[in-house]
Amino acid sequence: MSVTTCRGKLLPKQCLQELFDAVAARYRVLGPVAQNGAVAWKPVAKVEEMVLEYPDTVLPPKQWLHRPMETLFSVKKSLELQEAEVLQEPQALFALHACDLTGILRLDVVFSKHYKDPYYNQRREETLLVVMNCVRPPGPNCFCSSMEGGPFAQEGFDIVLTDIGESYLVETGSARGQEVIGPLGLEEASEEAFQVKQARYQQSVAKMPKSLNNDGLPDILNQELNHPHWGFMKEQCLGCGNCTMVCPTCYCYSVMDRLDLTLSNATRVRTWDSCQLMEFSAVHGGNFRKDRAARFKQWVYHKLDYWIDQYGTLGCVGCGRCISWCPVKIDLTEAIREVRGDGK
Ligand code: SF4
Ligand code: SF4
Repeated sequence: MSVTTCRGKLLPKQCLQELFDAVAARYRVLGPVAQNGAVAWKPVAKVEEMVLEYPDTVLPPKQWLHRPMETLFSVKKSLELQEAEVLQEPQALFALHACDLTGILRLDVVFSKHYKDPYYNQRREETLLVVMNCVRPPGPNCFCSSMEGGPFAQEGFDIVLTDIGESYLVETGSARGQEVIGPLGLEEASEEAFQVKQARYQQSVAKMPKSLNNDGLPDILNQELNHPHWGFMKEQCLGCGNCTMVCPTCYCYSVMDRLDLTLSNATRVRTWDSCQLMEFSAVHGGNFRKDRAARFKQWVYHKLDYWIDQYGTLGCVGCGRCISWCPVKIDLTEAIREVRGDGK
């Protein structure tokens, strides 16, 4: 796979704050911040508040587009409808990993293919994406190169930075990105800078700690609906839903109405939901996926099989979060290796 080769600029590393300030002049900046021994996406005012080399954030940056909980609208007793305020000001996600950018691009399809979700899309249209390419796989569970998720951004970014030594190679992928970078008057990048970028891409791919062989996987999965490993998973998996909550592409949600104690105001709220939870498949008259193995399988099959029919891509970007944050260390790459039985 070749990496983006449009013309770029050079930004000395010590000048990263200047680029940040140019972004912050137009957008509320959200970045990766160390918190309680992990890393979380938070509002930031300076580069030094961020951790630029981070394994992964617990929750993906998706949380700022598809909110974990949000009010859709409220209604007063008088039947007066009040629309929710979706976004107060434009926002920028700064130092995104390529896998999380890919996650956002895959959610763009989900939230616009059949029905254009107004809440997601309003935020998305007002969000600048600034990617920091992973010149080395940042975590022990990364396998993005197997899933066309990274480690370098290929498309869909506004600005992408690549560490090439003393400087960042800065490339833009949109007019909005160009508006931010243009006034900085950065030096034009040489051909050598692009060669360094290409070499760093290959080094990063070579060091990827995990892999998932998705060659012909949908057919294999469809033949292995009753593979004994799914039964083994029933004993292992706790059905806690962590894997779906941290996933950059999971999008399922639940909607509920809340009434205040005076009975004069109702709000319609949506919250993230998970196919791994028993209640998710409870419908009138029963539950169609009571079995934990069936729920685990649904999650795997949706990511690696059904998603292709639905949206034309894989539903996994190889970020490794589901492995990192599974309390019993279930590893999607190992599960697929078991089911394929090919040792790859
Ligand atoms: S399934 Fe796991 S590795 Fe794949 S995108 Fe979701 S959290 Fe990341
Ligand atoms: S995080 Fe692990 S234990 Fe929890 S539902 Fe997912 S696979 Fe099962």
